[in-house]
Amino acid sequence: MRNRPLPGTSGRLQELSLLGEPVLHEPCETVTDFTAAPGWAGGLSAFVEDLFATMYANGGVGLAANQIGVNARVFVYDCPDDEDVRHVGHVVNPRLVEADGVVVRGPEGCLSLPGIEAGTPRFDRAVVEGVDRLGAPVRVEGTGFFARCLQHECDHLDGILYTDRLAGRRRSKALRQARRTSWYRSGTRARALAADPGNRPPARPERGR
Ligand SMILES: [Zn+2]
Repeated sequence: MRNRPLPGTSGRLQELSLLGEPVLHEPCETVTDFTAAPGWAGGLSAFVEDLFATMYANGGVGLAANQIGVNARVFVYDCPDDEDVRHVGHVVNPRLVEADGVVVRGPEGCLSLPGIEAGTPRFDRAVVEGVDRLGAPVRVEGTGFFARCLQHECDHLDGILYTDRLAGRRRSKALRQARRTSWYRSGTRARALAADPGNRPPARPERGR
């Protein structure tokens, strides 16, 4: 039995931002106006609802504001830890205040890179502090897969994707897979990424191999 509706039930499905769109690759702004932020009809509460609705509709376990094109420090989550305990909530202006324990390389994906997954190193424990949509302090502690989620979402708000945490062949393989997807190949996203010198494909195309 639930005393209140699931988060997201009044939210509206928003379009996801995908790899290469500038909003994903730059740090988000701190939320200062809790009534009208972040320029969203209905204010911050409606925005959090939209994040939940969009995360659920796409089968995600977390979603950051810039993944629906909004440059604001907000994320939502509905994520199990390694003991199968479910964690549901949102954080406004989150700060990763602790990240420790062993570093585990585990499979990680992202709704902004659909269909791609790569072994990504993350700390086994993470603590995030921030406030809720009304401005009340929140502290969220996670271990295992949930700690991974918290680090992934905090990274998003700093303009960092999990592929930025990869090095060498893992990174080039993931980006190569992304470039082959239909969503990447369709139009502006590919151009946006190609315009970033850090992500530019090799100048001389490989031929015959
Ligand atoms: Zn993500």
